[in-house]
Amino acid sequence: MEVKNKGFDYDLGVIGAGPAGLSAAIYAARGGLSVVCFEREVHGGQIINSPEVENYPALGKVSGADFANALYEQATGFGAEVVYEEILSAELTGEVKLLRTAAREYRVRAVVLAGGVTRRKLGCPGEERLLGRGVSYCATCDGAFFAGRTVAVVGGGNTAVEDALYLAARCEKVYLIHRRQGFRASEAELAKLRANPRVEFLLDAQVAEIRGENQVESILLRSTAGAPDRVIPVAAVFVAVGLIPNNEMFRGQLPLTAQGYLTADENCRTALPRVYAAGDTREKALRQLVTAAADGALAGSSAVADLAGEATL
Ligand code: NAP
Repeated sequence: MEVKNKGFDYDLGVIGAGPAGLSAAIYAARGGLSVVCFEREVHGGQIINSPEVENYPALGKVSGADFANALYEQATGFGAEVVYEEILSAELTGEVKLLRTAAREYRVRAVVLAGGVTRRKLGCPGEERLLGRGVSYCATCDGAFFAGRTVAVVGGGNTAVEDALYLAARCEKVYLIHRRQGFRASEAELAKLRANPRVEFLLDAQVAEIRGENQVESILLRSTAGAPDRVIPVAAVFVAVGLIPNNEMFRGQLPLTAQGYLTADENCRTALPRVYAAGDTREKALRQLVTAAADGALAGSSAVADLAGEATL
């Protein structure tokens, strides 16, 4: 490990090695900072679960895993280190920023918070008990186990629609269950789903219970529009009902929105000196790969400017 500055292990600590964190690492490392990224799972973040990305400017079609690996190679190629340790606590208010993992404490001059989000759970009976036995939060990870079967996807955002499209290519039938008529998902993806004969939309409906002895066998659907309850036989339930930002650790040190997102200015600076927020973890209108990468570029560049004592960004 590099010890570059008196009393500091690295100039910049980045929490999260997804598209935002690794983009921050690229810009900070190219700007001359020593950089460490902390990752509790695998580098790349959520995008590794996307079989195909087709809306990143100029790239055409690329798999999420290939995108993540290219980003990792680029960041480490510029000298950033990726450490596979979970940050358990962070002290961000002082001159020295302290990032603690189970293994040790890291002292850094500046921090980029790019820890992303965790998938929300439905919270209904059966969900916890049948997790891994038909209940899944990742269609691309588990979809192949249900090839040729009937499955359900719950949610009305881009993730649910993408998951349903992915599953419809493998399963006999896919129910898309959403609690109202309107969708958050983009019209382009929805149109593909509507045109797919293997997909049936069950709208104005909530999953009230996931049933099955050792494996998912059926779901109890409760209408949000006053219709009678229905039991639908399915082999799996893919839950895609949104995201919870991984920011609880920072409560009390930084302001969080009502939904728990960090707030930052247009250059990704938070309310604390030399602390930046980037990617899905921060309050913004569009959570996409391209905005995560842009946030990372801004956060990394802001750190370079602030540590050089320049207010150029
Ligand atoms: P999301 O856009 O927040 O959608 C979550 C959906 O789940 C909403 O339709 C919501 O219903 C529903 N929901 C929430 N809680 C529920 C509950 N307890 N029971 C039933 N339904 C519930 O989440 P997401 O789809 O995971 O997407 C997150 C972000 O990533 C979005 O900004 C999205 O655009 C982005 N994303 C982009 C791409 C892409 O561009 N390729 C792919 C995936 C995700 P209501 O609508 O009624 O609130």
